[in-house]
Amino acid sequence: MIKRFFYSASALLPFRWLTRCGGFKLIAPFYHLVSDDCPAHIKHLYPVVSPHDFAKDLDFMLKHYIPISAAEVPLVISGQKRLPKPALYLSFDDGFREVAQVIAPILLEKGIPATFFVTPAFIDNVDMLYRCKQSLIAHSVVQAGDAFVAPDFTVTLWGERAHGAKYFTERLFTLGAHEVPTIESIAHALGVDLKGYLQSVRPYLTLDELQSLAQKGFTIGAHSYSHPLFANLPVESQIAEVEQSLEWVERNIPNQPRMFAFPFTDYGVAAGFYRHFLRDKPQSFDVMFGTAGLKLMPSPAIVQRIPMEVKKYGARRILGGEYLYYAAKRIVGKHKMSIPQ
Ligand SMILES: [Zn+2]
Repeated sequence: MIKRFFYSASALLPFRWLTRCGGFKLIAPFYHLVSDDCPAHIKHLYPVVSPHDFAKDLDFMLKHYIPISAAEVPLVISGQKRLPKPALYLSFDDGFREVAQVIAPILLEKGIPATFFVTPAFIDNVDMLYRCKQSLIAHSVVQAGDAFVAPDFTVTLWGERAHGAKYFTERLFTLGAHEVPTIESIAHALGVDLKGYLQSVRPYLTLDELQSLAQKGFTIGAHSYSHPLFANLPVESQIAEVEQSLEWVERNIPNQPRMFAFPFTDYGVAAGFYRHFLRDKPQSFDVMFGTAGLKLMPSPAIVQRIPMEVKKYGARRILGGEYLYYAAKRIVGKHKMSIPQ
């Protein structure tokens, strides 16, 4: 991945110099969970940051930025609120249990505000993200080792090569959100008890925990209702996913700013979506967040966040790389987010 080059190259440059690239008033790094033990439902998706490395990331960011709450984001972006250093707006996606157990205590200790973006369909462990189901299946394939036997229907689907664990796992991860029944059939055939896992491990926060986090001063934001890939949805469903999740937050957690973070990515979101929210109903939300890293935005109502779970690089290298990558993109005119018309 080309970005990796910038992560490495940025380590050679002074960080303060890098932060001047683009003159960003705000950066918005985001994580999913922080834990010493990588749970099976995440293991095959992305690296998990340890509490020690997370605290190190935070200490580094506190040196260079001023942490702000969700309510301050529009004020900083619009210039109504001026700060002596760039602002740091921290958020965490998907509402995993580690938010309450690990992340919130560290943030409270350091006095850093944050938003937890949640998906109502998973709160209280009613269901889990299809990617997590895939990770659980991949985990069971690894555990089976030489005893792994591909279910017959997957061999029919993918051919004889599916007998091999490596090929089987590769094909498993090509299945998308619209193929959840196939993912669940594979889990069933391999004896992976998804419901049992939800009940015993309880990967997600409960509504009670969310309400308690809000009482402690954290913000709860919407992360779509069921975490689909928006590019695969018709525009009406994209809009409904946003509106239903914002309504859910409003109904269940009082006095929250209306923050929405796209699940996966905002890439491929339809022109009609932006017409609906930016032109026709701008009052229905405060800020929307993508995951594309540092970019010049066409509207103060949209902010791109920075994914922080890249190998074990840490904040210095990831943020430095983002600035350098932005500077390189600016040279070739690819540093702006454009809204489809
Ligand atoms: Zn997510």
